[in-house]
Amino acid sequence: MNDAPQLDERLHEIRERVVARNVADSAYLRVADEILESISVALPRHPEWLEDQLIERVFEPERQLVFRVPWTADDGTIRMNRGYRIQHSSALGPYKGGLRFHPTVTHDVVAFLAFEQVFKNALTGLSLGAGKGGADFDPKGRSPTEVMRFCQSFMTELHRHLGATTDVPAGDIGVGEREIGWLYGQYARIVNRVEAGVLTGKGLDWGGSHVRKEATGFGLAYFAEAMLAERDEALEGTTCVVSGAGNVARYTVAKLQALGAKVVACSDSGGTVHDPDGLDLDAIVEIKEVRRASLEEYLQVRPEAEHMPAATPWSIPCDAAFPCATQDELDEEDARTLVANGVRLVAEGANLPCTHAAIGVFLEAGVAFGPGKAANAGGVATSALEMRQNAGRTAWSFETTDARLRDVMVEVHRRCMDAAEELGRPGDLVLGANVAGFRTVARAVRALGAV
Ligand code: NDP
Repeated sequence: MNDAPQLDERLHEIRERVVARNVADSAYLRVADEILESISVALPRHPEWLEDQLIERVFEPERQLVFRVPWTADDGTIRMNRGYRIQHSSALGPYKGGLRFHPTVTHDVVAFLAFEQVFKNALTGLSLGAGKGGADFDPKGRSPTEVMRFCQSFMTELHRHLGATTDVPAGDIGVGEREIGWLYGQYARIVNRVEAGVLTGKGLDWGGSHVRKEATGFGLAYFAEAMLAERDEALEGTTCVVSGAGNVARYTVAKLQALGAKVVACSDSGGTVHDPDGLDLDAIVEIKEVRRASLEEYLQVRPEAEHMPAATPWSIPCDAAFPCATQDELDEEDARTLVANGVRLVAEGANLPCTHAAIGVFLEAGVAFGPGKAANAGGVATSALEMRQNAGRTAWSFETTDARLRDVMVEVHRRCMDAAEELGRPGDLVLGANVAGFRTVARAVRALGAV
């Protein structure tokens, strides 16, 4: 269990009940504590939050689905994994949030991701509810036909809970355009309907949107740009490091480079690549997206670069750091190293990649810190744009969609800044994101009555 946070005394009983209900879910409770801390700061302006168990109703998922996913391996044996979908909140719109296929997926992981999604989606201002799902399935080492059969079995159970106006999943770790295709194909076959809006992250030829693939990474760079603009600084000329080499990381690198930054490192589960001259993104895409291999192979293209097995990029001196792999990948010691090396900005592409203690180090040192629920909202925002195009049976150009994404990220940043400013903590984007997100959802839950 986490250390008890500093709270307004009227919130203690609420916290005790939240802890009692979710005692096995430590990551969920970490998010709950962070939100409660922010609520505590804003409570004097919002005494209505204490009425009708409003806070607990926002904290409690509307529906939690746990299901068996049997599938057949290539050798003919039957295998089994556990699937999840937590439909946390439909107060602002259909449940919306990705699916993760990774062996570390548990109820706790899905619960914290779904809970974070509530505030992230509210911050976009795009009428999105929140959910998250996945399975403890490991796609690594599995043939494409095995992954396809797994996706089909997963959807055979999940389809009854989805719909373009009910619940609209997207990708996350281990679920990219390929898997979305197999999931969508099985959904359409079962329901006997073309319903493009039921999943986002689709391919361009079958209902997808320009920029969805790039959206989280591009959006993260736009958010960082807005953070630096507050300090009359720019990304151009900065040295950056990124963790991960997946969807979010690759398009973060692409946009940072386009904005004039030099990105000198990225990583995968096997270690970190350090290329002081700047990463060759085409080589990374070829290794990670096309061949689905290890980053170690980068040295075959750039022998002068270094591969550090089992290491993270946080010891490499940089102006800006972008954790884009997974939760808890940057701890207090990493944060101290980054600060000692002069980092000026940290923005989270992944969900909860920085530990609570690491965030404390950044805030104390005056590093501009962008929390994931705001900084990585570009993915879900562009999913909302994909849903709009599907509903209108239309397709926008790359430029139009990219420009809308940039506007959304500037707006998300402004909402966070305004909320922090109102509460007397200018520039505190953690507080600003939590309060601006919670306020929006709480208002809707209150208006909808006892539902
Ligand atoms: P991908 O599966 O495309 O990439 C994940 C990357 O992180 C891979 O390079 C992977 O390495 C690495 N990684 C995953 N788990 C670990 C681990 N336990 N230790 C070390 N490295 C790890 O996922 P995404 O890029 O889609 O997602 C990355 C993060 O961004 C997640 O936190 C996700 O929730 C978040 N996010 C994603 C969004 C999206 O639109 N996709 C939207 C908003 C947030 P390897 O290649 O070796 O497996």
